[in-house]
Amino acid sequence: MEIKIGWLYPKLMSTYGDRGNVSCLQQRCQWRGIKASIIPLDRQTEVAEFNLINIFVGGGAQDRQQEIVMRDLKGAKAAALQDKIETGTPGIFTCGAPQLLGHYYEPAQGTRIEGLGILDLVSKHPGVEAKRCIGNLVFEITASPLAEELKKMGGETPVAIGFENHGGRTYLGKIQPLGKVIQGYGNNGEDRMEGAFYRQAIATYAHGPLLPKNPLIADWLIQKALEQNYQTAIKLTKLDDSLALAAREAMFRSLALTKLGQ
Ligand code: GLN
Repeated sequence: MEIKIGWLYPKLMSTYGDRGNVSCLQQRCQWRGIKASIIPLDRQTEVAEFNLINIFVGGGAQDRQQEIVMRDLKGAKAAALQDKIETGTPGIFTCGAPQLLGHYYEPAQGTRIEGLGILDLVSKHPGVEAKRCIGNLVFEITASPLAEELKKMGGETPVAIGFENHGGRTYLGKIQPLGKVIQGYGNNGEDRMEGAFYRQAIATYAHGPLLPKNPLIADWLIQKALEQNYQTAIKLTKLDDSLALAAREAMFRSLALTKLGQ
């Protein structure tokens, strides 16, 4: 079996270790004998490449880089990405990436960057003087059917841990939040919502990078990608995640969150 991981603008969009999401997906495939190739999707990429992708990964970016990316993505590439997301190609989009998938992003300075409008959300930076949302981020995943599926895979209420650093505040329209904030700011520091979930696309403010810290989410993405690619139910073999789980426990302890989800 084989999957192609499409990495959006690796040179422009990979803040706070987001490239780790790509490595994590590839490694977890390889440990299971699944071939996983990484396809950079950047300014040199032909639109046709987008159609071959089985999982999209989009990382964070600073405001200036977001503007460059949007200029390139507009048009045929945006249409291809939208079509893939609408038809259920899984993806993990972090911080700056979901801001671009929404209707618009208003940066700290300068004019509004029009987004792709794939996700029903808007993002606004309140200005250079405003406090950034920085710190560890812990949230319960509540989006359906993701939450139920993760619970089935892991045997407990899914709780994700990551690190956030953003100036922009995101406000959701008619779209499910990815989860409910337990600690941190999440989308805007006001409504306790974190991220968004649409079709099989996960949007989050959690860097970390997210997937190595939350391997269950990586496996969910791989499973969905394989099922879509091969049109058959897939059951992934279990991996030894004891180190990742111990790291999670240590993080929860240091954040004084005794049991997952408390
Ligand atoms: N430029 C965006 C913000 O500050 C995204 C930052 C990021 O991706 N880390 O909100």
